[in-house]
Amino acid sequence: LITLAIETSCDETSCAILSAGRTILANEIYTQIEIHKAFGGVVPEVASRNHLEKISWIIDDSLKTAGIGFEEVDHIAVTYGPGLVGALLVGLSSAKALAYALEIPFVPVNHIEGHIAANYIAHPELEPPFVCLVVSGGHTHLVEVKDYTTFEVIGKTRDDAAGEAFDKVARTLGLGYPGGPLIDQIAKSGNPYAIDFPKAMLDQENLDFSFSGLKSAVLNYINSCKMKKIEINIPDVCASFQEAVVHILCHKAMDAIEQSGHKKMVLAGGVAANTALRETLSIKCNEKGVGFYYPPLALCTDNAAMIGCAGYYNFRAGYLGDMSVNAIPNLRIGTKMGL
Ligand code: ATP
Ligand code: MG
Ligand code: FE
Repeated sequence: LITLAIETSCDETSCAILSAGRTILANEIYTQIEIHKAFGGVVPEVASRNHLEKISWIIDDSLKTAGIGFEEVDHIAVTYGPGLVGALLVGLSSAKALAYALEIPFVPVNHIEGHIAANYIAHPELEPPFVCLVVSGGHTHLVEVKDYTTFEVIGKTRDDAAGEAFDKVARTLGLGYPGGPLIDQIAKSGNPYAIDFPKAMLDQENLDFSFSGLKSAVLNYINSCKMKKIEINIPDVCASFQEAVVHILCHKAMDAIEQSGHKKMVLAGGVAANTALRETLSIKCNEKGVGFYYPPLALCTDNAAMIGCAGYYNFRAGYLGDMSVNAIPNLRIGTKMGL
């Protein structure tokens, strides 16, 4: 079974071809990061326009890489939310046109369920159920993945997402965009215990997160140093901020394992690329005898292969869409398409 998948929810235009849901034949990604860098973040209108310019080329390229033609594709999977509405519509319209013209099934996919599915590609032996910590630019969720298409959100951020906090702190430090990879790199030469930033909600039994207090504390620290004309040790600020984020994420993730009784922990989303997060969570899981899984770097951030994998399981479960499906910017995880 051959899946052609399209992803355009934010600032990556991507098309992938998969065989049997978990084997990548092609995963072409065009990132607009260089374009948005000038603005310090993603500009929605600019993103839509660039998706439109690239989408047809990317689809052709992925078929070429996979060495197949349109006639060999069995179904089309596409992200229909969450994300930027104008950006989503470019991929969604292309996918509908392809499915209609080729007369094959059309499978709408939730972007966050896609991030989780990246792990099925990376780990052929991985099967649900498990607990997944989804940490991306716009989401920080603890999800109980009950089977391939059944999800329950058991914890989430009450304000900022982890990736958002990385990006805002990096921006205030004048490091550039996106902030996560830069902070990750610079933190390696800093002292994670130099500054004691606040870690919210740790003593609460719920599995929710809050990062806005931490973000403000870092911004206040930077501003007060500037005002007092104290030199800021950027590696120490990066390392201490990252330590706080990682500490909170790991603490709640292990609480989720304890409360749910699952024996597998899976990491997903752009922040899953973070070195300190991977290392710390790996140690904590080892201590508890819990299996730990995360995707390789290229499958952590946005790509169409992960959408194709999630789409394959939606297809097998019969969650198909028709031409009336619209883009849903705030689509919730676990939303099902009608049979
Ligand atoms: P969402 O998936 O919630 O819709 P998104 O698609 O914009 O949002 P992703 O592409 O999953 O987000 O991830 C991008 C985020 O990951 C950015 O906030 C970026 O700073 C962060 N990120 C990437 N690499 C790292 C890293 N090594 N350490 C920390 N954060 C990182
Ligand atoms: Mg992106
Ligand atoms: Fe994403």
